[in-house]
Amino acid sequence: MSVPLIFDLPRSDARNGYIPDSDLPEDVLGPSGELQRCELDIPQIAEPEVMRHFINLSTLNHHIDKGFYPLGSCTMKYNPKVNETISGLPGFAGLHPHQPIDTIQTALAIMLELEKWLAEITGLDAVTLQPAAGSHGELTGIFLIRAWLKQRGEKRTKILIPDSAHGTNPASIVMGGYQCVSVPSDSRGRIDIDALKQALTPDVAAMMITNPNTVGLYEDHIDEVADMIHRNGSLLYMDGANLNAMVGLAKPGLMGFDIVHINLHKTFSTPHGGGGPGAGPVAVRRDLEPFLLLPRISQSSNGWLDWDYDRPLSIGKVQSHFGNFSILIRAMAYMFALGAEGLKRMSETAILNANYVLARLKDTYKLPFDRYCTHEVVFSADNQGKYGVKAVDIAKRLLDFGFHAPTINFPLVIHEALMIEPTETETLAALDAFIEAMLQIDCEAKEHPELLHQAPTLTPVSRFDEAAAARVLDICSLK
Ligand SMILES: *Cc1c(COP(=O)(O)O)cnc(C)c1O
Repeated sequence: MSVPLIFDLPRSDARNGYIPDSDLPEDVLGPSGELQRCELDIPQIAEPEVMRHFINLSTLNHHIDKGFYPLGSCTMKYNPKVNETISGLPGFAGLHPHQPIDTIQTALAIMLELEKWLAEITGLDAVTLQPAAGSHGELTGIFLIRAWLKQRGEKRTKILIPDSAHGTNPASIVMGGYQCVSVPSDSRGRIDIDALKQALTPDVAAMMITNPNTVGLYEDHIDEVADMIHRNGSLLYMDGANLNAMVGLAKPGLMGFDIVHINLHKTFSTPHGGGGPGAGPVAVRRDLEPFLLLPRISQSSNGWLDWDYDRPLSIGKVQSHFGNFSILIRAMAYMFALGAEGLKRMSETAILNANYVLARLKDTYKLPFDRYCTHEVVFSADNQGKYGVKAVDIAKRLLDFGFHAPTINFPLVIHEALMIEPTETETLAALDAFIEAMLQIDCEAKEHPELLHQAPTLTPVSRFDEAAAARVLDICSLK
């Protein structure tokens, strides 16, 4: 690696003169300054060197502002910088959750407005903004399902998922105290109706479905599935992380979903990755509203907005305070900028871009389900397998071309999966460059498979033992 740690940079006498000596009164630091740490080994490095250090570091990693990032299921789209500016305005960023209610009316009004937009987009009746991630929304959804069943005097033990489900789905189900039962897919990559019939026993509390599913396919028999679930007295939950394919085009509420979580950080613009930051609001049908998280925002008769804690059926809270407010601001700014028409065009373009990649690569890479896709396309690397090349080799070689790798080996229902989500923010030229790289990699697989086994060779670090790399944080020491 060419960039050393900042503590190892050559030190200079150049002081950054901006930081004045402490002017805190001595009694603040304790009787003999005991709250002050005096032995901090902070390197004195001139400002230009510090800037260069961090800019160089930032270019060692891949990020959406540096290049194409087709990581399937994650919706790594370009996030307009104006959203960052707006969420950082002092009137938003400086708010404190315990401020008097009459000083945060605008913040409450924005949250209420966002709830309305999300209700409209999902076709559902009420929204909570509190969960801090998609998976957090799922867990909230499971608690809602339990509360709804309890009110009806029922205790059920199982929740169904399709075999293509995202890993967080079974995790949330088990954390929520339910047994998770997997339902196989049919030959078109959808939930298999016969298998569902068998799995749908009276002890099934709900089914959790991602639509479009993680194979990038729309569950085009969703009405039938919803009907079966409801006739069984169960609820239908949608993992809405793939909502980028649907906004303005289709509404989960009209498909029969009772509860949906939305990944604001994916669909509605927040730079994310490595586990955050995020917001996973949950939208529900009217009769689930009484169970939503505390507090709700209510409007009093004089027009003032207030927190409503007087909700006896509520499942409580899933985190402190009211949600990841700055992510909510980013999402609202993004929605206002695009408007209803713009949001619809966002989804249309995301779908168009994915189908363009599908059409141009399907003669070269195996397409397990030969259907139009939605916002992402899942290929298999099986065609390249006969040259001894695996999905991981293709993914690693893409790094040499300056692209982030697609998601690989997921969903599990596809052997050697390559899951590509281009998103709507890429130009035709960017898509073409990626496609050309994929075509060239296929040629290399035939002619120089060893090149792919060694890849990446042009990145700051090349291939290492991935199992070890997940545990040893100093990856350079692995080489
Ligand atoms: C990203 C994702 C999740 C989980 O969302 P987090 O915000 O990462 O917790 C769940 N399901 C699907 C399909 C996803 O793509």
